[in-house]
Amino acid sequence: MTDLHKMPKEPKMPKNIEEFAKSKRWWRTEIQTEVVASRDGVSEILKLLAMKKERPFFVIDDALAGQPAFGPLLEREGKFLFAASVSEPRTCDVDALVELIRSLKNAPDVLVGVGGGGTMDLAKAAGICAANPKTAAEYQGYGLDMKRGTDIWVLPTLTGTGAELTPIAVLRGPEKKLGINNNHAAPSVAVIDPALTKGAKKLNRFYTMMDCFFHHYEITKSKTSAEEAIADAREGLALAGEVLSSDLSSYCEERAVKSAVASVLGGSSSIGGRVGVAHAISYGLSNAAPKLPHSVAVTISMLACADIYGDGGYADTVRFLEINGMPRPKASDYGIDPSCVGKMTATALGMEKLWQSHYGEDWRNTVDEKFIQEIYKGIVAS
Ligand SMILES: [Zn+2]
Repeated sequence: MTDLHKMPKEPKMPKNIEEFAKSKRWWRTEIQTEVVASRDGVSEILKLLAMKKERPFFVIDDALAGQPAFGPLLEREGKFLFAASVSEPRTCDVDALVELIRSLKNAPDVLVGVGGGGTMDLAKAAGICAANPKTAAEYQGYGLDMKRGTDIWVLPTLTGTGAELTPIAVLRGPEKKLGINNNHAAPSVAVIDPALTKGAKKLNRFYTMMDCFFHHYEITKSKTSAEEAIADAREGLALAGEVLSSDLSSYCEERAVKSAVASVLGGSSSIGGRVGVAHAISYGLSNAAPKLPHSVAVTISMLACADIYGDGGYADTVRFLEINGMPRPKASDYGIDPSCVGKMTATALGMEKLWQSHYGEDWRNTVDEKFIQEIYKGIVAS
């Protein structure tokens, strides 16, 4: 089946949601998720659930509470509203949700995450943790032995994160920000309707697409990523770049479609691909500043990579910020000061696979403590 599936390249870019809803597979990487492109996502997911599941339980971003489009989901009884704008999901949020699910008289047969990356990740983490005995913090890491949990479906209301496909649930724990990386954390169904992003705030729309751009960009530069992932990333990079070259103040259907297509490519490319330097640097910043959103952390990091990503990543980042009238984000606005440099350096130095992704096997010839310290010193001084 692979040959046939790797064929359909030069996909015709859908111009509007009608065309998008007819789109078939537009990515090359093998993924576990069934992607349903839709022009009426809320009705479609309810219809599919009614056909395939008995007891869905919804995990919904509470910012959607005021939006009539989500009324049919919000009026459901089995639901949990997550305050996604207050914090990225924490391990304690997962533990509380798992406890709530376990206390239900009838265990749900599917958890449905409705929202942006954080809300989807919370649903993914709770789905898998529900079948495993330890706390979520004990499962942060790679390839840990975990049983398959409750089935996970998602309905993204912000596109760009790729969380609708990835087998990763990024969590803030008591000690570190790190994902539960496990195949059982991948959603089995993702219903994608670009129009559901209509109510997103400009800031969220902009920064989520920036992170999408960084993922694609870094994977295209990677020395350790699979060929299909790099090919997916190239297409995603072009689309994210087109979206970010416009002022994103208002919703635009054509851009929403491009963003949805780029986001799925972001999910697929990160399954077979690996990001690089800006992401490695961003994890040190994130660990030093609990309130700093991931996408802003990577932007700050990319702005410190003028020498490393001088062939476009840096210059485009500056350009996208200017087009959108966004000030350059500063680490100091999130409480990061020179006293954090040591701890941030240790975190970033531990991201071996990301350094290897960019510099190859002998990355240690270039990257050491001093190299990373200099980057952080530049960041805290700017
Ligand atoms: Zn990222």
